[in-house]
Amino acid sequence: MAIIVQKYGGSSVATPEHIRRVAKRVVATRELGHQVVVVVSAMGNTTNDLLSLAASVSPNPHRRELDMLLTVGERISMALLSMAIHDLGYPAVSFTGSQSGIITTDNHTNARIVRITPHRIQEALSGGRIVIVAGFQGVSERKEITTLGRGGSDTTAVALAAALEAEYAEICSDVDGVYSADPRVVPAARRLDELSYDEMQSLADAGAKVLNAEAVEWARRNGIEIRCVATQGGAPEGTPVRTVKAHEHPRVTAVTAHPGLYVLEAEGHEPAPPDLESTLAAHGAADAWILQFPGGWTALVPKQNVHGRGAFQQAIEAMGGVRMREDLTLVTVVGRSLTAPPDAAKQARRALTAAGIQAHGKLLDPGRAAFLIDAARANEAVRALHEALIDGAADVA
Ligand code: ASP
Ligand code: MG
Repeated sequence: MAIIVQKYGGSSVATPEHIRRVAKRVVATRELGHQVVVVVSAMGNTTNDLLSLAASVSPNPHRRELDMLLTVGERISMALLSMAIHDLGYPAVSFTGSQSGIITTDNHTNARIVRITPHRIQEALSGGRIVIVAGFQGVSERKEITTLGRGGSDTTAVALAAALEAEYAEICSDVDGVYSADPRVVPAARRLDELSYDEMQSLADAGAKVLNAEAVEWARRNGIEIRCVATQGGAPEGTPVRTVKAHEHPRVTAVTAHPGLYVLEAEGHEPAPPDLESTLAAHGAADAWILQFPGGWTALVPKQNVHGRGAFQQAIEAMGGVRMREDLTLVTVVGRSLTAPPDAAKQARRALTAAGIQAHGKLLDPGRAAFLIDAARANEAVRALHEALIDGAADVA
């Protein structure tokens, strides 16, 4: 019997009714003769609500305690889904990340999975049960409960798929795949038929919310196919992310924007301070992107796992000579073989100039068409780039 891992995002389990609907979808997969492991996110906006609750008690919430609080969200979903599956006449059992054997680093609020020993899941599957796992959480070697960073349920699902040697991991949400841009920003955005691991990794690294970047790393390393599908409706085939046949032709795949960054800029001509990485990690920003230039450095710090803004700002000020900006958005063009001629980075720069949009500061990376844009003009930049490089793609692809 093949093992299938299905992950349901927050909007798919937002209400009791949604949960009963998901239960039916899970049972339908089981009825096809598969063993099913389900990973769930917290219901709707639960994680944000819990974060607000913490902020209303403490301006700089203790990160261990934050993890104790945030993991509750996914535990609610797992228990309710298991109940709903029982009511459909199927045996099910829910497990926390810790019970599932998900061992992580001890970097609270942004831990990484180190290994998985899924004995209890395997036993339950052999016993004929459907297994529900709370996403986004694990336990450190020191037996502390951790979370995997925002969007971390994707990582739970793909890492479990690898550990269980599952057929594939299905990521179920309210969108029916991965699009060439956010359709709310670019109405002409297309659903992509298929993505390579590299393309999906670049997209996730560039801030696309469809899939967590660490989840893609797990998939790539273990050759796990990820299927991004809608929980209900939409294109049933979704967008698979997998090993694709060798592609000789460069193509521009998607344009994505990453708001929600702290941009740190060195004011002088100094190398990055030796403790920069550890300082960022101590505030939940181990996933920052640090760029060293001959004349200084820049760090792009995702805000989403930095939960004590004031304390973070103090730590940055203590470094001296570092400017912290919040008015810039990273806009990235993702594709295959983009450095091969015709050079997409050059075309992208031309398209921005034609639209009268200035990219801020230095070119981030010569091999990558990524630009820091005034936040207020980021959507315009995404539209201009999509139009020039994807809609009119005949001369690029
Ligand atoms: N509930 C967590 C979040 O909102 C984890 C997840 O949904 O993947 O980020
Ligand atoms: Mg997500």
